[in-house]
Amino acid sequence: MKYLNLETFTDFVCIGSECPYTCCSGWQITVDEETDRFYKSVDGEMGDRLKNCIQREDGKAWFIMRQDGSCPFLNENGLCSIYINLGEEHLSNTCTYYPRYAFCEGDIYFAGISISCPVASRFYLTHEEPLLIDFAENDDNSDVNEDTDWELFNRAIRAFTTSVAIAQNRAFTVRERIALVVLFVYGFQNCVDEGCDPSDLIALYSSPENFGSILERTGITSCDLASKTEFSSGILYLFKDVEGLGTKLPEIAELIGYFGGPENTSVDREVWGNAFSNASSQSNEIWRENVLVYILFRYFMKGMSEKDFYDRLMNGLGPVLIMSNVITALYTVMHSENPSMDYIIMLVMRLSRIIEHNSNVCKEVTEYFRRAGYNDPGFVLRLIS
Ligand code: SF4
Repeated sequence: MKYLNLETFTDFVCIGSECPYTCCSGWQITVDEETDRFYKSVDGEMGDRLKNCIQREDGKAWFIMRQDGSCPFLNENGLCSIYINLGEEHLSNTCTYYPRYAFCEGDIYFAGISISCPVASRFYLTHEEPLLIDFAENDDNSDVNEDTDWELFNRAIRAFTTSVAIAQNRAFTVRERIALVVLFVYGFQNCVDEGCDPSDLIALYSSPENFGSILERTGITSCDLASKTEFSSGILYLFKDVEGLGTKLPEIAELIGYFGGPENTSVDREVWGNAFSNASSQSNEIWRENVLVYILFRYFMKGMSEKDFYDRLMNGLGPVLIMSNVITALYTVMHSENPSMDYIIMLVMRLSRIIEHNSNVCKEVTEYFRRAGYNDPGFVLRLIS
């Protein structure tokens, strides 16, 4: 097997009770079969707690979360009672591995750490050097997916590496790189849909000397304020009824509170323009580049199963990268200053958690993007222009 790791993050340490947004809250925590078998055998006080706090249905088991969404085993000091009373080896797989993730496509395992954890989010968003994708290989081929369409797989891997190279080409602004990646993946998707060879397309986007003329045709240099403001208010409207928004996404709750007030609904065009250009200014280049690479790494190759590479890219790009851009711009309008890096780290982390783990909100956001026109790269380019 081959193994690709997005920045082998060997020194990751969970900060436990110090965590500003613990992963022991806000989503469903499943219990794998083997761990559940062990939990059923526990007696005494812990055995009773386990009995009362696990729901089982159709062979699946999960913790019954408290009213506030937190894990029933999270104690008043922010520590895990299962870890304390039964030992680390008896945590369920979800609790043991998170925030690490891994998935296999063809003969490659893709592994990394999820930016939905604030420690990982800080690491990735402040990493000044281009993120590395480490490679390793061994002779164990037991997990190779034999049903793989190898021709498609090899083409997709070339498209993936080409996209990452574009995303990390610092001769261009991140806004230009996002535009190039969107256009390239859209073109690649067309080749997949039509069953044609994408070699010419890959060659075109592998040569940075072509980027200038491609970008010229996109009109990316002229700011489309109308599309952005319309999209921004649509996004705020979408979130206004989400239960527990103040906890899940306080950044959006604050914006809804501000822009929902009649005195703040009309904002000067120039103020909007400045806020959006600040959001994509030099000071925001590093984190936006790294989030783009993270999204490519985490989502692109998952397009293998349904042959929907463009959708996979947009499912990450829209709700995480484009939304964080919109929210940082709205923050600037509201506070007349740019958000701090701490604000952006928590924002990206929370958006990522909503998208990766909260299926209902995720479905609504994806649906909103779809309705707004994300299948049309022209729409995406207008949002980032
Ligand atoms: S989100 Fe990350 S740092 Fe926070 S408790 Fe979970 S693993 Fe630890």
